[in-house]
Amino acid sequence: MLSFRIVRIMGIPIELHITFILLLILVYYFWGLDGLILYIFLFLSVVIHELAHSYVAKKYGVHIEKILLLPIGGMAMMDRIPREGELKIAIAGPVVSILLGIVLILLSNFIEAPVLHIEGIDYPLLTTVGILNIILGVFNLFPAFPMDGGRILRALLASKMSYLKATRIASIIGQFLSFILLLLGILSLNVILILIALFIYYGASKEYHVLVTEDVFSKIKVKDIMTTKIVAVSPQDTVKDLMDTMFKYRYMGYPVVEKGKLVGSVSFNDITHVSEKVLVRDIMKPPVTVSEDKTLKDVIPGLETSDRVYVLDKNRRLKGIISKTDVLRILKILEFRKDS
Ligand SMILES: [Zn+2]
Repeated sequence: MLSFRIVRIMGIPIELHITFILLLILVYYFWGLDGLILYIFLFLSVVIHELAHSYVAKKYGVHIEKILLLPIGGMAMMDRIPREGELKIAIAGPVVSILLGIVLILLSNFIEAPVLHIEGIDYPLLTTVGILNIILGVFNLFPAFPMDGGRILRALLASKMSYLKATRIASIIGQFLSFILLLLGILSLNVILILIALFIYYGASKEYHVLVTEDVFSKIKVKDIMTTKIVAVSPQDTVKDLMDTMFKYRYMGYPVVEKGKLVGSVSFNDITHVSEKVLVRDIMKPPVTVSEDKTLKDVIPGLETSDRVYVLDKNRRLKGIISKTDVLRILKILEFRKDS
C-alpha cells in the first residue's frame, strides 16, 4: 500500500495513504479552504481515537506497527490483540472521542472560535468538531465487528463462555444488526448507509472465520505435519550439482547444510539466471525456521516471506520441512473433515 509517514506520536508512526491525500485535494476543490480545515480536524479526531486504543494496547505489551489514515477512517495496526485486554483496548477509543467531543462543546461557550463557511452554511469550529467526535465515538460503539462495539460485546460475552463461542454469538448479532442497517439504507435510498452496512456485514462474518482458522491451526503441531524426508545440499555445491539434485528428487527447494548445521535455503527461483559454475553459498538465502514444538499457527507468518519453513529441534538441528504446498494440502483435508 502506498502511504507516507508524516509524524511519530508515542513512538507510533502516523501514515497517510495516497488515496487520503487525493481526497484532501478533492475536498479543497469542492468545499474550499474552510472545508479542508474541517476535514483535517475530523482526521485529527480519528488519530486521537486510534491513539487512545494504542495507548491502552501498549500497556498490554502490544506492538503497534503504525496508524494508517485512509479516506474512510483510521486503523491502528497491532500485531495482536490480547484477550485479557480486549475490553479496555476497544472501549478506550469511543470513550476518548465522546469525552473530547463534550469538552470541545463546553469550551465553545467560553472561547471565541473561528466559524467556517462551507456551501453557504456557517460551522462554528469547536462545536462542529465536538459533535463530529461524539458521532465518531457513538458510531464505533455499534456492536458489530470490525467496530469497537463488536469487540466490546465479544469481551463481555467471553467472560461468561469460551472465546470462540463468544465470537460466534457476537458475529451473529453483528450480521443481524448490519442486515437491519442495510434494510434501512435500502428503504431510505441512502447509499452511504448501504455501504456501511455491507462493510460491517463483511467484517462481522470474517472475524469469526479468522478465529476458527487460528483455533484449528493452533491445535496442529509442527512435528505432526512436517516432511521428514530431507534432501540437503552443501554450500560448496555448484549450481550444476544443484540442478542434478533437483532432477533426481524433483523438489523445488533445498536446505543448505554444513557440518550438520542449517546455513541457508536455496530454491529453483534462485538458479534461473546464474551460471552453472556459481556456488550454492553465493546464491542461498537465509533460512526461515520454526522450532519443532510450535504449531501451524506459528508457521504461517514465515510462509508469507518464504516458500518453505525449516523445523529445528532444541539443539537447532534440522528435523523437517514445511512448504506452502504442504499447508494447502492440510487445509484441503481439514475442509473435508470439518463437521459443521
Ligand atoms: Zn476505535
